[in-house]
Amino acid sequence: MAANKKILVLPGDGIGPEVMGQVRRVVDWFARHRAVGFDLQEGLCGGAALDRHGVPLTDETMADAMNADAVLFGSVGGPKWDDLPFEKKPERGLLRLRKEMELFANLRPAVVFDPLVGASSLKPEIVRGLDILIIRELTGGVYFGEPRGIETLPDGTKRGFDTQVYTTPEIERVAAVAFDLAKKRRNKVTSVEKANVMHSGVLWRQTVAALHAAKFKDVELSHMYADNCAMQLVRWPKQFDVIVTDNLFGDMLSDCAAMLTGSLGMLPSASLGAPDATGRRKALYEPVHGSAPDIAGKGIANPLAELMSYSMMLRYSFDLAEDADLVDRAIGKVLADGVRTADIAEPGSTTVSTSQMGDAILGALDRLGR
Ligand code: NAD
Repeated sequence: MAANKKILVLPGDGIGPEVMGQVRRVVDWFARHRAVGFDLQEGLCGGAALDRHGVPLTDETMADAMNADAVLFGSVGGPKWDDLPFEKKPERGLLRLRKEMELFANLRPAVVFDPLVGASSLKPEIVRGLDILIIRELTGGVYFGEPRGIETLPDGTKRGFDTQVYTTPEIERVAAVAFDLAKKRRNKVTSVEKANVMHSGVLWRQTVAALHAAKFKDVELSHMYADNCAMQLVRWPKQFDVIVTDNLFGDMLSDCAAMLTGSLGMLPSASLGAPDATGRRKALYEPVHGSAPDIAGKGIANPLAELMSYSMMLRYSFDLAEDADLVDRAIGKVLADGVRTADIAEPGSTTVSTSQMGDAILGALDRLGR
């Protein structure tokens, strides 16, 4: 692959730089052994940017993100910045990236690695082999709809209100992402709403069905109410391949699906924008976990969620499925060998540090991938 793909790396705060350090070793391994070369640029975001520049994200870093082929993000925040006003908080840096890059599709895979099947709160037979992808609409719906607010009524009581609103283009673009990605997986999409009680849900269902009929007939489509979906996720999650849903339901359902896997240190995510004229989508990849101030600086954080975010980047931004599979297989191998950071270890068993987990991954890549 040409070496001109640009990645902006934003390690952030707390354990962000620690886990990113291990991913950079893997990026170097791929450059050396698989000719997967990227131009890597590193920038500051969150508390790190606040300390240096007084803002959680500078205009220059924002411009770099807009020009990059993908952004690889760590995590931001920490007690040091907790008392700052809302607009200055480290998390505003991430929100600005999401907003200005117009990242409307949030991808959350829930994959259970066989050796970790016991970490789930569900029975092993329910989650063994699980590999599903939840796509949550991220920039519309009730979290952004107007009018919204709290008003005082003439009798002195108060009324709080939000507006759930979706337009056909907003639904079409996120549904198109779901259909496209399903084709690279098991070719099945479940569209989730509450068309039984919400007008926006009726429009959601009609729009997804129309798009399917017009452009994606070769993908299997079913519709499901959100409350049933929550139930089905814990009853028999393996019935799903790709789930696409709105911002509010996606918020709940993706957290529920994430916990099927049992560990926060094992959860990657991607957020995608619209394709440009060349077909390139703006994209940001990040672990689901935060900056973990309780363990930051101790060298014990699990780097695998960040590494899986890199694997998603290879797969979804650069179409390098074989290389992404190699990363995932290396993770599977290391876990099968019993290598564990503290967060995924059985109580009382031996654990490795962040960098030792990195060593193990590089060793597995050496064995599997050269
Ligand atoms: P958190 O995800 O940082 O930590 C929750 C718990 O999980 C902690 O006990 C932590 O030690 C553990 N944990 C998380 N990631 C781990 C890993 N890779 N390896 C081992 N253990 C891990 O959530 P929190 O404690 O609610 O938030 C801490 C800070 O992170 C806050 O400032 C919050 O605002 C911020 N945050 C940032 C993001 C982001 O950058 N996207 C997301 C969530 C929270």
